[in-house]
Amino acid sequence: MIPVTVYHGVRKGPVLGITAGVHGLEYAPIMAAQALSKELDPTKMSGTVILVQIANVPAFLNRSLRVNPLDNKNLNRVFPGKANGTSSEKIAWIISDQIISRCNYFLDMHDGDANGDLRPYSGYYNYFDKPEVSEKAKQMALALGFDYIVQFGNEQSLTEASMYCSREATRRNIPAVDIECGRMGMVEEKTVQQIQQAVKSLLRYLKMLDGQPNPVQHPVLIGKRTEVTSQHTGFFYSDLTSGDYVQKGMKLGYTTDFFGAKIAEVTCPVDGVILYKTFNPPIKKGDGLFNIGHIK
Ligand SMILES: [Zn+2]
Repeated sequence: MIPVTVYHGVRKGPVLGITAGVHGLEYAPIMAAQALSKELDPTKMSGTVILVQIANVPAFLNRSLRVNPLDNKNLNRVFPGKANGTSSEKIAWIISDQIISRCNYFLDMHDGDANGDLRPYSGYYNYFDKPEVSEKAKQMALALGFDYIVQFGNEQSLTEASMYCSREATRRNIPAVDIECGRMGMVEEKTVQQIQQAVKSLLRYLKMLDGQPNPVQHPVLIGKRTEVTSQHTGFFYSDLTSGDYVQKGMKLGYTTDFFGAKIAEVTCPVDGVILYKTFNPPIKKGDGLFNIGHIK
């Protein structure tokens, strides 16, 4: 079961698809979708909003980190999915085939998950062979109002499978954006409202709601990110938080073994800003510790 609501505005206009809960433990976008579902009024709208309140109900109900517990797959790595596949593949297929295919614009909403301290940003796919779709997506990202905008892709063309929900929309030449807002598995009122305001600003930019959009005035475009992964298994310590600026060579934190003995320092490989940090102690070799956005 996938809870979906369709809002058919009284006036003609585009179709915007919105997904929350592709990752079921990312509560801020899910709660923002719940709030929006009460707020959207078709008598005051142009066009149509297809709102997926929770894409991944099995993950949501089981409080499952990143994966759908029915098949242990990450829904945001299996797009466009398969009609006769596993649970995640079927969900991806229904969203691709029944929802994305009907849209003129698309928005997928995420947050930092239960282990992530995340600095809010929006994102869009930038492919050089899709200049019009990429530019439209960029304008949508600006309209969302987040000051940090991550450019995914940034290459000539999409040559691999979509994997990601909004990249499936991009593959179909539908301008698509992501919201990343919320952290540590929390439902913070401030964050939920920030997402609501962002979506309403996007609806105004697309002329689906009356009023002026509230686009970001001084965006920081992030075209490249570096993932810092753990070289060791044990405990992870760091005093830094998301949004902190870091420099190549500085100490980001350290890891210890299970007895508390320090194994290694974590050293920053690039200059940039921490977009995402694993904020809690358990760490396995190869796990992501930081995601650092390159800023000029
Ligand atoms: Zn996510």
